[in-house]
Amino acid sequence: MKKIIALLLLFLFLPISAFAELTVYFFDVGQGDAALVRCDGETMVIDGGPASASQFLYSFIRNTLKLDHLDYMIATHPHEDHIGGLPAVLNAVPVDLILSPTESWDSDRFRDIEKYADAQGAPIIVPDEGDALHLGEATITILHCWFDAWTTNDMSIVLRIDYGTTSFIFTGDAEYTSEYMMIDSGLPLAADVLKVGHHGSTTSSTTEFLEAVHPKYAVISCGKYNGYGHPHQETLDSLKKLNTEVFRTDLQGTIICRSDGETISFLPERETEEDLFASPRMQTEESDVKTNPIEELFGEESSREDAQ
Ligand SMILES: [Zn+2]
Repeated sequence: MKKIIALLLLFLFLPISAFAELTVYFFDVGQGDAALVRCDGETMVIDGGPASASQFLYSFIRNTLKLDHLDYMIATHPHEDHIGGLPAVLNAVPVDLILSPTESWDSDRFRDIEKYADAQGAPIIVPDEGDALHLGEATITILHCWFDAWTTNDMSIVLRIDYGTTSFIFTGDAEYTSEYMMIDSGLPLAADVLKVGHHGSTTSSTTEFLEAVHPKYAVISCGKYNGYGHPHQETLDSLKKLNTEVFRTDLQGTIICRSDGETISFLPERETEEDLFASPRMQTEESDVKTNPIEELFGEESSREDAQ
């Protein structure tokens, strides 16, 4: 009898414990941003990188994760390096809700998003600061969304995710003006993980904002030896001063981050011997990048060549 009860308990709790985790994939999409967050079986995509990431994202969602829908899609702002791959994501699976700082934008890529969203009946909603959503047991709070910002970057939806006692902030390309607005808003900014604004550019990451967030970990998404010199040395120096551990998609590939609600762990796609706190401006030659394959995490179908 005890055995039967033990088995029953196992079956009762197995599916729950199997999902009791939040996973964030910071994809290596070259120069751009794309992340996917899974929590308790629910899924959110935050940006889709440039159009060149389309095939990789489509395959990852369909073949690796075998998803049949997304709960949320966030288009932080309508720049090509953030929304270029989103039409492919909408092609891969239906999406329940799309958040964007604008309902329309004069670009072919945004019109594609509107077209696919319309065909699926997925609403494109402009959120308000302070709005909250649930992704499984995680809470998503909108920290910033500025429709008529002076720069397209400053339109960026900035959101925080709280899961247990762990927290994450995704900034899109929000610049210093937005950062000061967020500090003034009084919304909670302290977080464990920061997706660094605007690929590590000095247009973002003011000392005041970084001190308010005081991240234990920072992830910078940018292309290797990109023409912008991202991440900029000043940003890396500021993060070093805060003793923040830095991860970079240009040097380490896709970064997988997991939270069990209490502790956070990181698994970069590959190791690097390069200095993570050195801007590519300071690096003159390619150095060896040790490959540490984690194919079992990506599956066989999603080749990294797709993400160029
Ligand atoms: Zn960008």
